[in-house]
Amino acid sequence: MALLTKSKYLVGLQCPRYLWALIYDKEKIPNPDVSVQFKFDEGTKVGELATKLFPDGINVPFEDFNNNLKKSKELLKKKKPLFEAGFRVGNCFSRADILVPVGDKWDIIEVKSGTKVKDINIHDMAFQKYCYESEGLKIRNCFLMHLNNEYIKKGEIDIEKLFVKDNITPEVEESMKNTKEKINYILEVINKDKYPEAVIGPQCKNPYECPLTECWDFLPENHVFHLYRGGKKSLQLFEDGIYAIGDIPKDFKLSDKQGIQKDCEVKGEIHVHKEKIKHFLKTLLYPLYYLDFETFSTAIPMFDGLKPYSPVCFQFSLHVVEKEGDKPKHYEFLYSGNNDPREDFVLALKEVLGDKGSIIVYNQSFEISRLKELGEQFPEHKNWVENTIGRIVDLLIPFRNFSYYNPIQKGSASIKKILPALTGKDYSEMEIGDGATASVKFYNMAYKNGKDVRTALLKYCGLDTLAEIMIVNSLHNLVRE
Ligand code: SF4
Repeated sequence: MALLTKSKYLVGLQCPRYLWALIYDKEKIPNPDVSVQFKFDEGTKVGELATKLFPDGINVPFEDFNNNLKKSKELLKKKKPLFEAGFRVGNCFSRADILVPVGDKWDIIEVKSGTKVKDINIHDMAFQKYCYESEGLKIRNCFLMHLNNEYIKKGEIDIEKLFVKDNITPEVEESMKNTKEKINYILEVINKDKYPEAVIGPQCKNPYECPLTECWDFLPENHVFHLYRGGKKSLQLFEDGIYAIGDIPKDFKLSDKQGIQKDCEVKGEIHVHKEKIKHFLKTLLYPLYYLDFETFSTAIPMFDGLKPYSPVCFQFSLHVVEKEGDKPKHYEFLYSGNNDPREDFVLALKEVLGDKGSIIVYNQSFEISRLKELGEQFPEHKNWVENTIGRIVDLLIPFRNFSYYNPIQKGSASIKKILPALTGKDYSEMEIGDGATASVKFYNMAYKNGKDVRTALLKYCGLDTLAEIMIVNSLHNLVRE
């Protein structure tokens, strides 16, 4: 019988079918992509750093399973903090990030690279506490040690301040009231010789995105889960047996935007509100600066002035159209060193952004937040940042307010959906085709001697601003028709 580890237990809680695939149908579970792998690696770094808070701690080796169990038992006698001590009870196995002796009892410390306690952390610790107590260990408290999102790096990392330790013992004890039943149920699932039944629902994306997309294959293309901000409404429709957006009954209450989406589905039409689009286009003042930033972020801040996960700007693309009918001029910046890119980034941007004309971005909250942070981190540029922010126009507006909607967007207003909807062009066949991949590939190149991806990065970011130009031109064409 397969052993139930802590991570499998958590997957089983999310969805038994997902767990079954994880154990018996592994080829259906893709290897983590570069951005998921990056997150795992960041988590490992955080875990290793946390152990430095216990200088007399002992790492329990995990060369093999039985040896880890044996060593853990032996080392408990030393009454020192233990890292990765493993315990088996029946068919359950769990290793503790950190076990800390307190008199004749122990505290469990689970280290997480997040910045707050999540429900899954409580289930995680309930499983651990169940295993350790079943093995005769007396547990005093359960702590979740996570990153402090208020910590700002200044000089060397202050490990004490980087972490926050939350005592979640009451929540864990509450959760433990039915941990044994849950374990028994999950053990039953993994004993089955065929896939357990499971119905799609919120658990497919929460707490983690499940990769078994085949469960969704029976739905029509534009299904109710694509309803704009559908949430509970989508689930209710699905549970009522209504799968296609076009089949939503007339008396079902939809928001105005959802109503437009449904109408487009029913009629097979594109919705265009010319007056609203004209009004938006009038807000664009020449010269037009089409701008896009790329950033990366790390769990442990790398440079002064950063918090955990603060985005670090390393690249921009800028297309400038001086006046109507002009060909766009392209400017770009991609940090080429292996240190802090932020100030070089600001200086390069200041050189090319001019002091008048609209700065067009897609989803302004991202660029505005980055500029504000740069103004805080480099106060000498603060005035410039404030003036620059005042010139920003968000190209997302006509799509977020449904002045334009094309059913092929499937409820999304992201630039990756809008570009093909308006122009038929897309990001396929790009070596780098999304921001998360761009971040990790840049990070690996700049700080880990990874593959040189400069050309791919420049192409990707350049396409984002070219896409903005194509979208604005398409909007002009729509209102002229
Ligand atoms: S897609 Fe949803 S229903 Fe299917 S296995 Fe994953 S979580 Fe379960």
